[in-house]
Amino acid sequence: MSDRITLSTWPTPLEPMPRLATALGLGEDDLWVKRDDLIGLGGGGNKVRKLEWTVGAALAEGADTLVTTGAAQSNHARLTAAAGARAGLDVVLVFPGTAADAANGSGNLVLDSLFGARIHWAGDGAPSALGDAAEDVCAQLRESGAHPCLIPFGGSSPLGARGYVDGGEELLAQLPDVRHVVVALGSGGTMAGLIGALGEERVLGVHCGAVADPAETVAGLTTALTGRDVAPGSLRIRTDQVGAGYGTLHEPVLEAMRTAATTEGIVLDPVYSGRALAGLISAVRDGDIRRGERTVLLHTGGLPGLFGHAETVRRTVTALRSHSAD
Ligand SMILES: *Cc1c(COP(=O)(O)O)cnc(C)c1O
Repeated sequence: MSDRITLSTWPTPLEPMPRLATALGLGEDDLWVKRDDLIGLGGGGNKVRKLEWTVGAALAEGADTLVTTGAAQSNHARLTAAAGARAGLDVVLVFPGTAADAANGSGNLVLDSLFGARIHWAGDGAPSALGDAAEDVCAQLRESGAHPCLIPFGGSSPLGARGYVDGGEELLAQLPDVRHVVVALGSGGTMAGLIGALGEERVLGVHCGAVADPAETVAGLTTALTGRDVAPGSLRIRTDQVGAGYGTLHEPVLEAMRTAATTEGIVLDPVYSGRALAGLISAVRDGDIRRGERTVLLHTGGLPGLFGHAETVRRTVTALRSHSAD
């Protein structure tokens, strides 16, 4: 039994990427992109699949307000705001920093505001303080007679991860002989759900630096999701694309973004999906992914975050090519 609700039209497209494949040294038919960036709610992205389950559960328990946390450029927060609007629920987003951080707000913050979400600025404490602040917001809401439901960081509970068991099964129906699925690993629920559908051997996670211990995080979620004891050491995780850390621009990621954009007209973001392609490229270089092996890049979205990432915007605009004979 499930209380899953429908927040988009399924399945998302699966597209061949022959020019990108060739640029990477793969065969023309080897590389496909699963377009979860085209999910039709709120600007799209992977968090919608999780929200179908978590917001469904919130409605079933009689909640009237969704509360969640993240960075100010969180795609998960933006999509929680959109899902709340669609489901007729109030939304409070708990972000680190102060209201002054919103003054030059861009990217996801613009959309959070359009979707009518309220922002609670939690100050600049330790990351764990954000969870405490969210609990406080829920307590205040309860005192004022509301019924809040706290959606976990990144939507990555075992329940939310079921959205990517659905996503993995959808992909298998589209491409039964898929050998590798490459995905950005943030809070871990997307990779965990994919493993639930495809098994450990076929899913390659590219760590983005959002959690301290990605293997433990994904193994814990996968174990809770599947009821099998999944060992952290059995997971395929690359940690070579974190660079200076979560949210920073890593040079190979900008290169990967340019390659996808110039060969296929596909936009990736600097925090997640660009790291996934950079990881895929390095996996081809070191032989983990080989010519002739059906490979899928899961495009998890993140376009609004590109416009909220000051350094990427600056670097991209600086590289604008002029056509005049200046
Ligand atoms: C959150 C996010 C991810 C990572 O998904 P997790 O389930 O948190 O690991 C990847 N790409 C984008 C664009 C995201 O917003």
